[in-house]
Amino acid sequence: MSSYTTDQIRNVVLLSHGGAGKTSLAEAMLFTAGAIPRLGKVDDGSTVSDYDPDEVKRQISINLSLLHCEWKGNKVNLLDAPGYADFIGGVWAGMRVAEAAVVVVCASSGVEVGTEMVWRYAEESGLPRLIFINKMDRENADFHKVVEQVRSIFGNKCVPVQLPVGAHSSFEGVVDLIGLKYHTGAKGQEGDIPTSMEGDVAAARDRLAEAVAEIDDDLTLKYLEGEEITTEEILRVLGDGIKAGKIVPILAGSALQNVGMSRLLDALCGYMPSPREYGSVVATDMVTKEPVMLEADGSGPLCGLVFLTSADPYVGKLTHFRVYSGSIESNSQVWNPNKEQMERLGQLFVFQGKAQEAVPKVIAGDIGAVAKLAVTATGDTLCSKERPLSLRAIEFPEPIYSVAIRPKTKTDVDKLGTVLPRVTEEDPTLRVHRDPDTAETLLSGMGDTHVEVVVDRMQRKFGVGVTAETPKVPYKETIAMPSKAEYKHKKQTGGHGQYGHVCLALEPLARGEGFEFAEKVVGGAVPKNYIPAVEKGVMEGKQEGILARYPVVDVRVTLYDGSSHPVDSSEISFKIAASQALKKGLSDGQPTLLEPIVKLQVIVPEAFIGDIIGDLNTKRAKVLGMNPEGGNQVIEALVPLAEVQRYAIDLRSITQGRGTYKTEFSHYEEVPAHLTERVMAERAAEKERS
Ligand code: GDP
Repeated sequence: MSSYTTDQIRNVVLLSHGGAGKTSLAEAMLFTAGAIPRLGKVDDGSTVSDYDPDEVKRQISINLSLLHCEWKGNKVNLLDAPGYADFIGGVWAGMRVAEAAVVVVCASSGVEVGTEMVWRYAEESGLPRLIFINKMDRENADFHKVVEQVRSIFGNKCVPVQLPVGAHSSFEGVVDLIGLKYHTGAKGQEGDIPTSMEGDVAAARDRLAEAVAEIDDDLTLKYLEGEEITTEEILRVLGDGIKAGKIVPILAGSALQNVGMSRLLDALCGYMPSPREYGSVVATDMVTKEPVMLEADGSGPLCGLVFLTSADPYVGKLTHFRVYSGSIESNSQVWNPNKEQMERLGQLFVFQGKAQEAVPKVIAGDIGAVAKLAVTATGDTLCSKERPLSLRAIEFPEPIYSVAIRPKTKTDVDKLGTVLPRVTEEDPTLRVHRDPDTAETLLSGMGDTHVEVVVDRMQRKFGVGVTAETPKVPYKETIAMPSKAEYKHKKQTGGHGQYGHVCLALEPLARGEGFEFAEKVVGGAVPKNYIPAVEKGVMEGKQEGILARYPVVDVRVTLYDGSSHPVDSSEISFKIAASQALKKGLSDGQPTLLEPIVKLQVIVPEAFIGDIIGDLNTKRAKVLGMNPEGGNQVIEALVPLAEVQRYAIDLRSITQGRGTYKTEFSHYEEVPAHLTERVMAERAAEKERS
């Protein structure tokens, strides 16, 4: 790749509902720009972007994929983001480091759930964008219908700058409404506008002129007075309008037929902002703690953000970064202010899918990668030690769906410990933790497909076999009534005997108060030196309650009496007496099973409220309330964890993927009597197996 300046860079993230054609579009752009020698296809797994076997198998993009090409002296970095909600982490990372987005919409399916979702994110982060209506070659492609749908959902700021010529099998090219030229075929050859389209073109050009006039005071007057808005005037206003989010151009084409690509690349380089045009970013000076504005300038202080970490089984860890100011060179050292450590950088690379190309440096505005960094993680800043700066980390969504994973064989047990950190490092929307209550290792992610892909990947990339199951519910036990229990442990088997005798009082405590041990022995009935043994017996005994061997909570146990034997008493005798007395006390205190209740927050479009509430009612939920939020409804409910461990799947089927949710632990509550027996039977079966 030849050399270029910051002004010649475009960082473009491709966003869409899964399947609209981002990967195919990236492939066609690279091919048109001459970056790859042949045009691969998603359907036969031969694209540069979806090279990962998981992606080829499922034919969906899972990873944020990094590609680049050169177009008319510019370097266009393409970030092909995943379209499926389970892999939303890649979308957030890609949007954070791009100055522009191409929102791809299918010409026959129109705006879909995922389109609305990515649009919302782009809108919230103020990302300049254009809409590309893809698949114009498809049988039921309808450009005008999709444009009207886009405008009614996303507003009239979305306006065509092109009109397609022909459709379906006769789709041939596009008329550029700014330059007023016809561009035909794969090469975008320039020609005259077909006479049959002159009327349509004039009307569409007028709509474009109107949209442009609306955002510029001088042009508003001109337009209202009926004067023609010139091409130069449109061009003058368009770039700033796009940057300010006041105008979103709509283009058309077919990635599969490779039509419309040169015009799309022209639009990216012509109207979308370069890193410098996009404006400065804010960093924090780590010495003064003051905000600093950074221009995309090679002579500024070094500042880059790590937005992606991938784990390659051969090269190891790969760290992808975006430089905001200054430049990063191969074989240099940088300071990581988040970890307060120097990092030694080896050779720098730029990526084309999985292929890497060595580069001497990465300049302000550009994206690069380096292998084998010691401490740096996604979200960290890279800078110089002399001028420590820190950029805001990328906020990833919290995982919502968990499975319990278990190694399949003894070898897998050994490997798992080293592989899990590598897998989570690669994916910030993934977490692994051990649940101390159930002793299970939980893998949590953004949905069932996400977790499934990770399990597949552990096997394929690192050779570790694990099974994934719905996690166990961490039930607990308590009592509902006070009780008293006495136990005398006495054995006379020749020689030294055993003697321990305790009287315990048990009383239920309020939910969440835990387990307490107290002693009120008078007159040394239980000698002081044996009281720790009694406490130990109680504490060990409460680990397994009498209903289903779940831990006992919210009970106070008081040792109030007992007796001892001058020769036969021992610590172990008192310990045994205490744990036996506890068992008796629990069974006389109306033992009760407790289950965890979570606070569930569901965000769905209004139309689904009825179905959501209906479903929640079957899940023993208590609906707390509903609030409108940005066109959606937020429903809050308290619901037993046992009912929502697979809510990701239920919600998707109720809303066809239009809903999101999160849960957080709230408190423990009594399990209804009719369910207690079932939980006890399941627990008995589980204990028998283990
Ligand atoms: P992504 O999930 O957004 O990356 O979409 P893909 O690029 O993986 O494409 C999804 C499917 O749509 C694949 O079967 C593609 O071959 C097909 N596809 C993509 N672009 C076009 C197009 O322009 N025309 C037609 N007919 N099919 C397309």
